[in-house]
Amino acid sequence: MNILLLGSGGREHALAWKIAASPLLTKLWCAPGNAGIAREAECVALDIADHPAVIDFCKSNAVDLVVVGPETPLAAGIVDDLAIAGIKAFGPSKQAAQLEGSKGFTKALCSEFDIPTGAYGRFTTADDALAYVRAQGAPIVVKADGLAAGKGVVVAKTLAEAEAAIAMMFDGAFGAAGAEVVIEEFLAGREISFFALCDGETAIPLASAQDHKRVFDHDEGPNTGGMGAYSPTPFVTAEIHDQIMARIILPTVAGMKKRGTPFRGVLYAGVMLTEKGPKLFEYNVRFGDPECQVLMLRMMSDIVPAFLAACDGQLKNFDLRWYPEPALTVVMAAKGYPGDYKKGTRIDGLDVAAGIDGVEIFHAGTVAKDGGIVANGGRVLNVCAMGKTVTEARERAYQAVDRIKWSDGFCRRDIAWQAVEAEKAG
Ligand code: AMP
Repeated sequence: MNILLLGSGGREHALAWKIAASPLLTKLWCAPGNAGIAREAECVALDIADHPAVIDFCKSNAVDLVVVGPETPLAAGIVDDLAIAGIKAFGPSKQAAQLEGSKGFTKALCSEFDIPTGAYGRFTTADDALAYVRAQGAPIVVKADGLAAGKGVVVAKTLAEAEAAIAMMFDGAFGAAGAEVVIEEFLAGREISFFALCDGETAIPLASAQDHKRVFDHDEGPNTGGMGAYSPTPFVTAEIHDQIMARIILPTVAGMKKRGTPFRGVLYAGVMLTEKGPKLFEYNVRFGDPECQVLMLRMMSDIVPAFLAACDGQLKNFDLRWYPEPALTVVMAAKGYPGDYKKGTRIDGLDVAAGIDGVEIFHAGTVAKDGGIVANGGRVLNVCAMGKTVTEARERAYQAVDRIKWSDGFCRRDIAWQAVEAEKAG
């Protein structure tokens, strides 16, 4: 098969690595790709926002399957445009991608199909939103309805913070994404990510993971795209796993089908494990980054038949196998991220680091230059490892981190701290 992968982050490097291992593969391209992806695929300088250009490329190169990594092209309807051109693509349609593209859409779906989530209100004027938060009190969560590059959520501890967030959103801080604001009950509990593969009719679980959004150790500092992750998380027991499938994932797939907008692709549920059971606080419609990196390491089965089954409505009874060992990833970012940072700084020692037992390094913002690798983004490398325990995987990952020579980079040193503490406690 000829496959085109869209994207350029660590998630796409992990997907490229996994697809490249498939015996079904003839040729893999990635647009636009990065320096690490270039080891697995031929990188092509296509503008993925230019759908006619992507379609032309697919036709000229007899592409059999397109795999879409990030959310922006999904929300822009690339899967629909490819389908009209007769090209198979893994990912949801524009309508179904609203599960991520509109928080209000998802909350309304939860209400209609009785999916457990926090109480909420949807507002199009600041006055109405302010009246609601004043009636509810703090803590409370203020969310821009649309895509805001992961920055559109304010968990307000005080009423004053909630009022400031409402003012900021209605002042246009997120453009059209903030024209509607969703205000949600604050959910207390442990936060986990749960992934399922969907074919429009049914869903099969992938695996659970936990990521670390804050930039500094002890979960301090501003939110980022994610500074590390591990899978599986011990906090998703078999019972909680079954509850998430039965009460959240399967009703969502059934509801989307009933509405005439079936969901195909990866459904990534942000779930709070509350005293009253698992509650959904958000959906994403693609793999998480960096969670994808650890899921790909743990997936034993060939991923290409799974993508095809999802596209073709054939996931019922699909047998997807996993390695039981945990996997963990540490994100190395450019100093200053998520604020301003330098590009073009040189990174050495990657081959030595990747030689450690159980270690795999996926690139995010990198480019090849003068025979070496230089940083080209905020999140730059994903240093991943597997181990018999989360603790062992973490030791290996940090051993690899310590062999990488990049004075302009940094990482968190406490990835998976909750699971490591749980392992210590036995
Ligand atoms: P999101 O951009 O939706 O992933 O939200 C960013 C972060 O805000 C999440 O990772 C949660 O930690 C937090 N969050 C979102 N919704 C809620 C909620 N209803 N209660 C508590 N925390 C939340």
